[in-house]
Amino acid sequence: MSFLVPRMAALSPYVPGMHTEAEGALRLNSNESPYPPSPGVASAIAEEAGKLSLYNDPDCTALREAIAERLGVKPGNVMAANGSDQALLLAMAAFADARHPVALPDLTYSYYDDFAAFLGIPLLRRPLREDFTLDAADYCEPGVTVLFPNPNAPTGLAVPVEEIRRIAKADDGRVVVVDEAYVDFGAETALPLIDVCPNLLITRTFSKSGSLAGARLGYALGDETLIGELQRVRSATDLYGVSRMAQAAGIAAMREWPYYEANCRRIERTREWTRRKLTELGFEVLPSLGNFVFARPPVDAALLQRRLEARGIYVRRLSAERAKGRLRITIGTDADMERLIAAIRAILEEER
Ligand code: PMP
Repeated sequence: MSFLVPRMAALSPYVPGMHTEAEGALRLNSNESPYPPSPGVASAIAEEAGKLSLYNDPDCTALREAIAERLGVKPGNVMAANGSDQALLLAMAAFADARHPVALPDLTYSYYDDFAAFLGIPLLRRPLREDFTLDAADYCEPGVTVLFPNPNAPTGLAVPVEEIRRIAKADDGRVVVVDEAYVDFGAETALPLIDVCPNLLITRTFSKSGSLAGARLGYALGDETLIGELQRVRSATDLYGVSRMAQAAGIAAMREWPYYEANCRRIERTREWTRRKLTELGFEVLPSLGNFVFARPPVDAALLQRRLEARGIYVRRLSAERAKGRLRITIGTDADMERLIAAIRAILEEER
């Protein structure tokens, strides 16, 4: 017996990485930052706590100003959202429908599938090349809305910004959404293109480089008209979706951004160390520009995942066909990755 209407009954909800906060557990399965928020974040949130009887600013004015100032754009180019997931869902609702499908890679962030199913939007899956790189030519078809992360997840591979311009220019009557959740770990942003591509929408998050995954804060960037349209859709569904605490946290994080920049550089260094060590252990590792690596272990991926879990280390195995035999491993601190490598070494020795 189900009360769900058929489309909702057909949903197969997103399965996130196993959530544990157990003592000693090492979470390398959700691409969180291993570094805590900067000191100003906690005090900014504490200050808001006393004002919780009052509604939050629905326009997120101060937050949008803070983001715009750091990025060198106008507040009108910025829309805040309850996590970038919300910005992405709203973008799909705003710029695609049953008659305007969305083209996306065959291996990518799988939540897009759930958003599309929820909204009744058909998807056109464009196969990545054999080496997991994306061919811009696959996204130049007129009339088709485009969505992909750059760098892509779970591969960590990025498309040059020139290719994004080519895609956007191929038909400026439809929207191209570039999800820059992981752009701060070494990839080039498409942000300068928003001045010349009024159909380009970029989404970003505070969840990865900003150490604020639990605050739920993301944003979209684009031409003022495009952002105005997205904001209109947001206002119709979740006007107060960015809480007081999230807004205050985001403003504080923007002020203290050099701290986060330094963390990104540390994560990049740790990522390259991890890639080297995994390669030495017989893994095939893609050259990631995210805060994770996508790697094929020299033994069965499911077995290795289970054996790591028994040691309190959680990594992600994705169900997509092209992710078979591979693991996505978040980059933690140096100590975290030393623990991971030691555990893998021990497990591989036991398997010999
Ligand atoms: N895009 C990609 C590619 C992601 O991996 C994630 C995080 N799982 C998100 C968007 C969503 O991040 P959030 O909603 O926390 O901003």
